[in-house]
Amino acid sequence: MMWKFFQSRAVLCMVGFILAWAANTASAAEEKKTAAPPAEEKKAATPPADEKKASKSATPEKTPPAPEKKTAGPAINERAAAEAAAAARPRPKPAPRAAPPKLADKPAETAPAVAPVAHAPHWSYEGENGPHAWARLSPEFAKCGAGERQSPIDIREGMKLDLEPITFDYRVSSFKVIDNGHTIQANVGGWNAMRVMGRRFRLVQFHFHKPSEELIEGRQFEMVVHLVHKDSEGRLAVIAVLIEGGVAQPAIQTVLNNLPLEKGEEIAATTQLDPAQMLPESKKYFTYMGSLTTPPCSEDVLWIVMKQPLQASANQLGLFERLYPMNARPVQATRERVIKESN
Ligand SMILES: [Zn+2]
Repeated sequence: MMWKFFQSRAVLCMVGFILAWAANTASAAEEKKTAAPPAEEKKAATPPADEKKASKSATPEKTPPAPEKKTAGPAINERAAAEAAAAARPRPKPAPRAAPPKLADKPAETAPAVAPVAHAPHWSYEGENGPHAWARLSPEFAKCGAGERQSPIDIREGMKLDLEPITFDYRVSSFKVIDNGHTIQANVGGWNAMRVMGRRFRLVQFHFHKPSEELIEGRQFEMVVHLVHKDSEGRLAVIAVLIEGGVAQPAIQTVLNNLPLEKGEEIAATTQLDPAQMLPESKKYFTYMGSLTTPPCSEDVLWIVMKQPLQASANQLGLFERLYPMNARPVQATRERVIKESN
């Protein structure tokens, strides 16, 4: 009797142990799944990222931009549309729990051009993997959801000050063009520099968004070009130049002329380009601290948004729109950030 009792207890213990073990294994497997691409895989590769480009360890993806939706509506509408689309679509698999926000923001990577990294999580501007979902796509993208100084923003109520002039040392340079699946990007060769706040930044690449990601007092522009700079310690500074319809812009035309036929393929241009042509005549600007506007949304990016827009012709705007009718992240909360503005 006693023996039987012990026997049955032993069996129960055994069963309990097996169940606990199975549960453990399952959760470990789940963690692995969400645990992300090995950091070093991301870091090692220096993909021709988007502005991020620089930092973005983001890999150029081959996925074609969603063909639907030709209208470049304001980013805010885009978010609503994307959310609605995502809600309407059945989810194929349970979304992994939101990434732990504890991941340290990684130092931005630089990198004009190198081989794309395999297996980068797919992100997009619309639908299921649109901006509202970026943070869930990879633990590395946690800042896209939990960050507190994200970009872009609607620039309002800047503190008008006598801001120091930015010194540009741009020169005619060689460049390569890539369609990285999120934008058209020119990786600039040679030595082009910009000095501000006592630091010198080198121009790494520039790329475009349509419509403009930043808003000025609620106004969105046709496009924006982001000139991504990096200093010797790896800190990023992005100069944003808003673009409105008007006369043709020679540097934009030069980039379009050298557009590769294939996505993800970086092609050296046969001509040179003067990045100074991407700057407006007036160098007055707004400045604030923000983030990359594409995953991984790393923060500590110095933003300089030029007050005077540049112009591009209807034909140039139309050509870009055929490739990327909408590649702008919606504006993010400004919170308590200081925005300064040249008098
Ligand atoms: Zn950008």
